[in-house]
Amino acid sequence: MTIDQFNFAGKKAFVRVDFNVPLDENFNITDDTRMRAALPTLKKILADGGSAIIGSHLGRPKGVTEKFSLKHILKHLDELLGIEVQFANDCMGEEAAAKAAALQPGEALLLENLRFYAEEEGKPRGLADDATDEEKAAAKKAVKESQKEFTKKLASYADCYVNDAFGTAHRAHASTALIAKYFDKDNKMFGYLMEKEVKAVDKVLNDIHRPFTAIMGGSKVSSKIEIIENLLNKVDNLIITGGMTYTFTKAQGGKIGLSICEDDKLDLALELMQKAKEKGVNLVLATDAKIADSFSNDANTKFCKVNEIPDGWEGLDIGPESEKAFAEVIKGSKTILWNGPTGVFEFENFTHGSRSVGEAIVEATKNGAFSLVGGGDSVACVNKFGLAGGVSYVSTGGGALLEAIEGKVLPGIAAINE
Ligand code: AMP
Repeated sequence: MTIDQFNFAGKKAFVRVDFNVPLDENFNITDDTRMRAALPTLKKILADGGSAIIGSHLGRPKGVTEKFSLKHILKHLDELLGIEVQFANDCMGEEAAAKAAALQPGEALLLENLRFYAEEEGKPRGLADDATDEEKAAAKKAVKESQKEFTKKLASYADCYVNDAFGTAHRAHASTALIAKYFDKDNKMFGYLMEKEVKAVDKVLNDIHRPFTAIMGGSKVSSKIEIIENLLNKVDNLIITGGMTYTFTKAQGGKIGLSICEDDKLDLALELMQKAKEKGVNLVLATDAKIADSFSNDANTKFCKVNEIPDGWEGLDIGPESEKAFAEVIKGSKTILWNGPTGVFEFENFTHGSRSVGEAIVEATKNGAFSLVGGGDSVACVNKFGLAGGVSYVSTGGGALLEAIEGKVLPGIAAINE
């Protein structure tokens, strides 16, 4: 079932959204992108004459925690939806059930943080540090058992289930995946956001126009290894940048000074280079760096060859020669995936490389390329540089997006398609 085909009139929908927004110390929302992203789905349900029972997590609470209460975002949700949304102080219990049952067409109810219950994630809590393996196994079994009741209860509030939380689609949690089995195929669907995400991922996985270029930045090879290996089977060009650069440089015998490096991944870096060669993938690494004499925005800086970084200095961004080389590859591409900055973009003086990558992607997109930007920091990058409007799609998913591109089946997606 697709959300466009579904008529919500007179129906109660359990909608799993990702309202895990950043809050400041006074509980003000500092970035409401995730809330806005779910609005088309919520508005469609209400406009049809349905009612929405909204479930989300906020943060990583280990139990009921005032700081992570969804009541902090209620007022803003009212403003965004233009109605007074009701609130249940607990996602379980009589209050939630009664409020859900009494909902009228066009009304919405926000449930308290689903992760106040260990059952949402299905992971035991409060285990002693010295718990034995047996105790751990028993606790796990117990939470898995009670998770069934928890999930069934959530499902009992509604006639249909809508998953619009792409950010948690890679987790087989109660409200993101398990709940779907309580609804038949005609009564469960993706929300609009999820539909868009799934389509965008599908394009870079299955509808590739060539050349296909992936730009992988960020700090560590170890956190990106699976996706890099997977991409080697798909892309024509693979630009590996950011802090990962120096592991590759050192592996080839270069001098990297104090630059970030994973010494236990040197062999892996060489292996990846070899694999790229065997597969005919053009692996592009930086040739020069913007180096600094301390890890700070105000450090003294200069440019040098990436493999000749003096002692006491560290590479915090790519240099102009690399920018040019990266831009050339990007501009000649028809499918582009960008994850991770070229340098420490949080420091204004080391944003140039990431900005130039973003600009090259925008230009390629103007010339007909499909460009997908995703994973926490790259989204922050395109937003910071005001380039989000110039790329084809900015994903709201971090881990979920990377796992999808690794080729993994995401539980949240599978549960709807089953
Ligand atoms: P990730 O979370 O793996 O995508 O990495 C993003 C982080 O990598 C950002 O916080 C950047 O500051 C950091 N980063 C990028 N380039 C470098 C570098 N040359 N040295 C240290 N950190 C870097």
